[in-house]
Amino acid sequence: HGVGQELVIEHVAAGYGKVQVLWDVSVRVAPGEFVAMIGANGAGKTTTLRAVSGVVRPSAGSIRLGGREISRATPSDIVKLGLAHVPEGRELFPLMTVRENLELGAAMRPEAARAQAETLGQVYRLFPRLEERAGQLAGTLSGGEQQMVAVGRALMARPSVLVVDEPSLGLSPLMTQTVFQALKAVNEEGVSVLLVEQNVGLSLKLADRGYVLENGQVIREGSGADLLRDPAVREAYLAL
Ligand code: ATP
Repeated sequence: HGVGQELVIEHVAAGYGKVQVLWDVSVRVAPGEFVAMIGANGAGKTTTLRAVSGVVRPSAGSIRLGGREISRATPSDIVKLGLAHVPEGRELFPLMTVRENLELGAAMRPEAARAQAETLGQVYRLFPRLEERAGQLAGTLSGGEQQMVAVGRALMARPSVLVVDEPSLGLSPLMTQTVFQALKAVNEEGVSVLLVEQNVGLSLKLADRGYVLENGQVIREGSGADLLRDPAVREAYLAL
């Protein structure tokens, strides 16, 4: 995987047409760090990830990857710079096989395309189930297996930063554990992770640091452990 690059999101505002969703979002992911972003439905977590990967263009603020401004870059340029996005809902090609879906992840980046066979082996070691199902159509996989493909496809780009949107959505607790453990393993290999999750307890346990988003603004940040102990976080997101 690529060398560590810092991701800095600074005072970002963004929205859809006339609807402003993000008002002031600042999030930092140091090289090799695991950062979680939590918040209620509609707080703007997905929109923040879309801004980072170039799908939504910020109306204000700055996003830098390894010191380079990317807030006006295209999604394909951002992948080439080493940031890969696992979108909410996975967005696989259902009529293509597992292997074909994975290979698409390498196609966007010349250095990833050259290393495709090697990276495919790494993804299969991370998710042995995908090697067993390599020839199966992605649309016929279970939800958890599809999530593995979505993560694996992003890894095929050999990113230095991985942004992941709601990987636990619709998964059993066991499958959620499997996917989270894989994200942790990827992070331990040096890939920075920015994770958006509904599963607040699990993601803050995994993360070095976390940010709480509310109404398009960061209202709290801290170590995963500190946020887990924070009474306001516990009351709002852990129902304790
Ligand atoms: P959730 O956990 O429900 O996915 P979120 O924190 O990820 O929430 P976003 O998906 O970023 O929140 O959505 C924030 C707001 O932006 C919501 O009010 C949503 O309706 C709106 N929104 C999201 N996508 C679009 C779109 N393509 N067009 C118009 N509005 C959108």
